[in-house]
Amino acid sequence: MYVKPDKRILMLATGGTIASMESGSGLAPAITSQELLDHVPQIAELCHVETVQLFNLDSTCILPAHWLELANTIKARYDEFDGFVITHGTDTMAYTAAALSYLVQRSPKPIVITGAQKSIALMDTDARRNLYDSFLYATDEQSQQVSIVFDGKVIHGTRARKERTKSYNAFSSVDYPEIAVIRDGRLIRYLSPENIADGPVFYDRLDERVLLLTLIPGMQAHALNKLVEDYQGLILQSFGVGGLPGSDTGELAQALESWLSQGKTIVMMTQVPYEGSDMTVYQVGQRVKKKYELIETYSMTMEAAVTKLMWAMGQSREQEEVRRLFCRSVQTDIIR
Ligand code: ASP
Repeated sequence: MYVKPDKRILMLATGGTIASMESGSGLAPAITSQELLDHVPQIAELCHVETVQLFNLDSTCILPAHWLELANTIKARYDEFDGFVITHGTDTMAYTAAALSYLVQRSPKPIVITGAQKSIALMDTDARRNLYDSFLYATDEQSQQVSIVFDGKVIHGTRARKERTKSYNAFSSVDYPEIAVIRDGRLIRYLSPENIADGPVFYDRLDERVLLLTLIPGMQAHALNKLVEDYQGLILQSFGVGGLPGSDTGELAQALESWLSQGKTIVMMTQVPYEGSDMTVYQVGQRVKKKYELIETYSMTMEAAVTKLMWAMGQSREQEEVRRLFCRSVQTDIIR
């Protein structure tokens, strides 16, 4: 692998554990973007880095407005740099990665998101490795689009999920192979880059009025009826491959009908972590899907489904157009 030493990377710092210090009332982000870089001087051998401290937040407090700010900053500085590295808390990193995959589509330049389970200020930390690996990946000629680099794995932005709260091995690529791994400072690529010569395509609108509801046995329809005024899109996390208690004639189905008749969008997914939905398998799913033409996520992650619905609703108010946008595959997010 040949890494051009003249690559220019913009690092956008947003906070998270990687930048945290003990505040007296728990860990809180305090370390600046320049201080993060100072902890890993080897990065200077890979590329020229500029850095911007966009915010310094625990990622628990990241909002869709922050995703738009990240995307707008990347858009404004896109031509100046060969790639982007974002440092971020791990708790909502998978949402940010998915949101950026929809806000900056078909990017021929890499947009890499990383963080750590422990502060970069500690001796025993994963932060220095994750930061170095992110720059290593961001400076590779074949890198593109939005990804998470964490614990030696490179994961598509639409495919990542935080699965462990404490271990260094916090993120998995769900129902899809990792793009690459990084072992002992060497990048081993598993997936070839896509042909995306026509990109990038930037978007600057999200509609946050998305409700995610997980079904539990015995759930009553009145919760759905009460919430219909406040939301424009509903994602229902069903059981197994997908079905609705009471099938197409129960109270839940009637509640869904009322959402749809008000021009809202309903997406069905499974609450099972792996292998996705297929509503055609059981009568409790097939009848509902046929009657209401619900959107199904198949193997999409929850983070991708939530942010894609915000993005699709941000582009159009028409139910049919939202459906069309949602069902179109973006950066391998839907596999049937
Ligand atoms: N609460 C932290 C955050 O998400 C956790 C982390 O970064 O690992 O900002």
